[in-house]
Amino acid sequence: MHHVILGGSIAAASAAAAIRGKDPRAEITVVSPETPFYFRPLIPMLMDGSRRMEDISYAGQVKDVTRLISDRAEGLDTKRCVVALESGGELGYDRLLIATGSAPLIPEIPGAGALLPLRTAADALELRKAASNAKDALVVGGGLVGIKAALALGKLGLRVTIVEKLAHLLHPRLDSRGAAAVEERLRLYGIRVITGETVAEVSTGKARLSGGALIEAPLIAVAIGSAPCTGWLRGSGLKADGGICVDENLMAGAGGVFAAGDAASFTDTVTGLKINSALWTNAVEMGRIAGENMAGGKLVCPGIWRVLNATEICGIPMVSAGKTEADPGEEAYAGGHFGYRKLIFDGPRLKGMLFMGDVKGAGIYTNIIRNRTELSERQKQKAIEATLGYADFAMAGAR
Ligand SMILES: Cc1cc2nc3c(=O)[nH]c(=O)nc-3n(C[C@H](O)[C@H](O)[C@H](O)COP(=O)(O)OP(=O)(O)OC[C@H]3O[C@@H](n4cnc5c(N)ncnc54)[C@H](O)[C@@H]3O)c2cc1C
Repeated sequence: MHHVILGGSIAAASAAAAIRGKDPRAEITVVSPETPFYFRPLIPMLMDGSRRMEDISYAGQVKDVTRLISDRAEGLDTKRCVVALESGGELGYDRLLIATGSAPLIPEIPGAGALLPLRTAADALELRKAASNAKDALVVGGGLVGIKAALALGKLGLRVTIVEKLAHLLHPRLDSRGAAAVEERLRLYGIRVITGETVAEVSTGKARLSGGALIEAPLIAVAIGSAPCTGWLRGSGLKADGGICVDENLMAGAGGVFAAGDAASFTDTVTGLKINSALWTNAVEMGRIAGENMAGGKLVCPGIWRVLNATEICGIPMVSAGKTEADPGEEAYAGGHFGYRKLIFDGPRLKGMLFMGDVKGAGIYTNIIRNRTELSERQKQKAIEATLGYADFAMAGAR
């Protein structure tokens, strides 16, 4: 059986390992323009020089792969089961995984050509090079990638400003109170934060913001989100609006074609709505399920997360899952003795959580959200009081 995997990142590596685990004799070909495989979330460390490429690589996974092709898919014929390659050739498959990820969004503004994205290892090195000739930098976008970029530039000695279009940083991973704590900490790190504005125009060494202010910035990094790399599928017949649509086995509708990771869209664990995955954790899990199913399994993907994050920013540990702001009809409980702790309930169901500072016991709440567990009044009360433990579920008659 010939398995072809398009993309050389985590969804691809996870799928290759699953296929190899199930079928030691499978032929697995990976097609990727990037050298497989490295931890994308660690590229800010390439930027600030604290890690080298070999430190962030997990090249061990290459052992699962029979053949690596340094190329890019540019067309798909699902009737003939062939992928057209940018270099001109064609590649046949029995099973195909599309794990082409996503690419950074660039705002359509005058001077946009000067904006530097942070998506690949090459981007990180490019930003590092640009930083060596600059004293000031502007980072457009105050999400996780923008903040990591800003901190890396700060570490390189630049004066950094983050401009975020929304009212607060790190939406939707944090609520406004949590974001305010991060903003305060960033200021202590010497990073200026401007919210409720974006960049309107870029000219040599300067950026004009939507509010009219002119900012000195010979280096402008952009991190306003990413969009699935699916444009090359035009004409293939696959539904790829906002990410390739897949069924519960992660099949993309056509015989033998699967999709996983940032390139795919699937059901949100919390809301049940179709979302495009843009999280490492989703890509790991989807890659594993797709790989198992390509090798003959029948695994069902239980859902993906819009918010699922465990990280540390400026020394503040934080975990958020599901959602961080309550919708009408939902109840939010916020408090915490040693940090900030927020739970969001829809009746007996926990829909979201955010722990900052003290993240102990976060795992149990993530599991409750994932499993859509209905909590008894007593369990709910204990969750609010931060005394809920696994024993509360093991006890007969806990309700
Ligand atoms: C700086 C940064 C920090 C991040 N931090 C976090 C974090 O803390 N937590 C978190 O959950 N997520 C984080 N992410 C997001 C996370 O990295 C992605 O969700 C994850 O990498 C998606 O994996 P993937 O395998 O689906 O796709 P990608 O990692 O996007 O890889 C796609 C691969 O496909 C290749 N490709 C593209 N087009 C083609 C084509 N036509 N043919 C063949 N190959 C192609 C690309 O070159 C690439 O190798 C971060 C991302 C960045 C950039």
